[in-house]
Amino acid sequence: MTMNRAWFHTFGCKANQYDTERMRQSLESSGVIPAASPDAADLAVLNTCTVTSEADRDACRLIRRLAREHLGLRIVVAGCSAALREAEYASMPEVWRVVPGQEPGDVVRAAISGRDQGLVRLRGAGSSLLARFRRGTRAWLKVQDGCDRRCSFCATRIARGGSRSRAPEEVVAEARLLAREHPELVITGIHIGHYGQDLPGRWSLSRLCARLLEEVPGVRVRLSSIEATEIDDLLIDLLAGSGGRLVPHLHVPLQSGSDDVLRRMRRWHTREGYRARVLEIASRLPYLGLGADIIVGFPGESEADHAETRALVEELPYTYLHVFPYSARSGTAAASLPNTVPGTIKAARSRELRELGLAGGRAYRASRVGGRAEMVVETFPEGSLPEGQEGATGLTEDYLRVEVALDDFGGPGGLQRGAVLRGTLGGDADRLRLTAAS
Ligand code: SF4
Repeated sequence: MTMNRAWFHTFGCKANQYDTERMRQSLESSGVIPAASPDAADLAVLNTCTVTSEADRDACRLIRRLAREHLGLRIVVAGCSAALREAEYASMPEVWRVVPGQEPGDVVRAAISGRDQGLVRLRGAGSSLLARFRRGTRAWLKVQDGCDRRCSFCATRIARGGSRSRAPEEVVAEARLLAREHPELVITGIHIGHYGQDLPGRWSLSRLCARLLEEVPGVRVRLSSIEATEIDDLLIDLLAGSGGRLVPHLHVPLQSGSDDVLRRMRRWHTREGYRARVLEIASRLPYLGLGADIIVGFPGESEADHAETRALVEELPYTYLHVFPYSARSGTAAASLPNTVPGTIKAARSRELRELGLAGGRAYRASRVGGRAEMVVETFPEGSLPEGQEGATGLTEDYLRVEVALDDFGGPGGLQRGAVLRGTLGGDADRLRLTAAS
C-alpha cells in the first residue's frame, strides 16, 4: 500500500504543538510528505490531549469522522490521551496504530509499520531534531517536558512523567535557528517554572531567559503558562527591564481562589501567596496582559469557596480567563473525592467567571487606547480586503489581537506576515487598531 502523505492534527497546549512539529519533521525525514488536508493524505497523525474529558471525547469524535469521511485513511493516535487510554484507542476499529506519548521515532515506526518498506526509509528518527515552524509568525521553543507536582486533578502529569529539562546550550542553539525566521519565540513546556532543577549547575527559567535575551538578539520572547509563585525576582526584573523583549504577558494558573479547595487540589500555593505575587508583578510593569486558568466545581467547592474565587478575580487585573468546569480524570486522586458539584451549578459558576474575565479584558483594552504597542502581523489577507476589515491582524506584546490601518504602514503591498509594526493603539475596546501615528 502506498502511504506517503501525512496530515497532522494537534489537540491541546503549545507543548503539544511543538511535539507535533517534531513528529512532522521525523516523518518528513523518513520521506513522508505533509498533506494540507485529510483529503490529500493517506495517513493522519492525531496528537491528543487529556486535560479534560472533553479533550478525550474530541479526539474520539475526530477519529470517527475521519474514518467515515476518508475511507482507507490510516489513523495514528499519539500524545497524552493515547498514553493514558492506549487500550481504549487500540480497540477502536478506525485506529491504525496507537503511540502512547509524543516520541517522534515511535510515531514514525507506527506510521510505516505494515506498509511497503520500499517506499520509505526510516532516517534520523529519534535523533535530536530542531523544531521548525514554517507557518505562523510565532515559534514554540520547548524547554522541558513533564512535571514534578502532584495536583490531584491532573492527568497530564501522569501521561508525561516527571520534569525533564533540555540543556541550555541546546535551547539557545534552537532559538538562534528559529529567530532567523520568526520574530517571536514562545517558551513552552509542561511546567516551565521548574526548568533547570534536574540539570547540573544552578539553572532556572529566569537564567535561561536572561541567556536567550543576551545571545539571541532581534527576537521577542513570550512565556507560556507559568505558576505565579515560581516567577522569581530575576524574571520580574527581565519583564520590567528588557525593553519589552521579554514581553509583558503572563498566563498564571489560579485554579481556585479558596485555600480549602487549593488544599484538596494539592496545590502548593495559597490564595494569598498567589495574590501577592501577581500584584507585585503588576506593580512593576506599566501594563500587563494577564491570563489564568480556573477550575470551577471541584469536588466539595461550596458557594463560599466560589465567592472567594470570584472576589480574587474581581481584584486582580486579569485581561482574559480560561474557565474549565471540573471533569474527573481517571487515575487521578481527585476522581475519588466525594461531594461532586452538580453540572448546573458548575455551568452557572463558569458563566459568572467567564463574564468577569470578558469584562476585565474589555476594561483593559479600553485602557490601552492611546498607548504604544508592538504588533507582529499574523494574518494577512490575499487579494482584495473584505469590506469593513482593516486587513492584517496580529498580536501585541501584551497579547491583544489588533488590526492594522494598512494605509499607515504603506498599504497592503508594504506589509507581510511576520512584520513587526510599532505604533499607537486606536479604535476602541471592541476593535483595537494599530496606527503609525505617534
Ligand atoms: S503543576 Fe499541577 S496541573 Fe500543572 S502539569 Fe503539574 S500536576 Fe498538572
